[in-house]
Amino acid sequence: MSNRQLMEETRHALERNGFEVHVHATPEQAVPEILARLPAGATIGRCGSVTVERLGLWPALADRGHPILDPYVAGFTTEQKDAVRRQTQHADVLLTGTNAITTDGHLVNIDGVGNRVSAQIFGPRQVVIVAGWNKLVAGGVPAALARIKQVACPQNARRLNLDTPCARDLPCPPPDGCRSPGRMCNAVVILERRPRLTPIRIHLVAAALGF
Ligand code: SF4
Repeated sequence: MSNRQLMEETRHALERNGFEVHVHATPEQAVPEILARLPAGATIGRCGSVTVERLGLWPALADRGHPILDPYVAGFTTEQKDAVRRQTQHADVLLTGTNAITTDGHLVNIDGVGNRVSAQIFGPRQVVIVAGWNKLVAGGVPAALARIKQVACPQNARRLNLDTPCARDLPCPPPDGCRSPGRMCNAVVILERRPRLTPIRIHLVAAALGF
């Protein structure tokens, strides 16, 4: 199956599960369409997402005058970061990525702190998720979790300077992973369907984005 067929199959499955889905042929096409669907003046919550960063959405949002709840401001103390993460739970919009999407329409994410996955479920008035086709996984939730542990975690651990076995290209220790303080797989969340009170819009982009 081609990547485009995979995207279409996934789009239909996600829609069956209650998610709003938009498919974009290129990142250049995706960015203005993502921005155009955000309410003017909406406060946007930021969580760790290489995909959103690589698309240049944060400067574009700042240019449009959106207040941004950003825990990554240089010089922030741990307390300041935590305060912004808590405010993000009440943002107008959470803008983030996802670790994996199964072709049968489930979102699969892991989180070390938990702010990203909790805000995807409930809190912000709206959730907007951007994903490249490299995040699509056939084979259901087990294959998605394998992708996260084998592909996403090693790259994210190195990016964030976390001392985990996967950062050193060692296998994730059985049976339930590592005991590192930097462990990213503390909260493992599967959205089988859209949580009832949270509108979730997913932008699928025909390009490899993020990890
Ligand atoms: S449990 Fe630890 S070693 Fe395994 S993937 Fe997660 S962070 Fe990496």
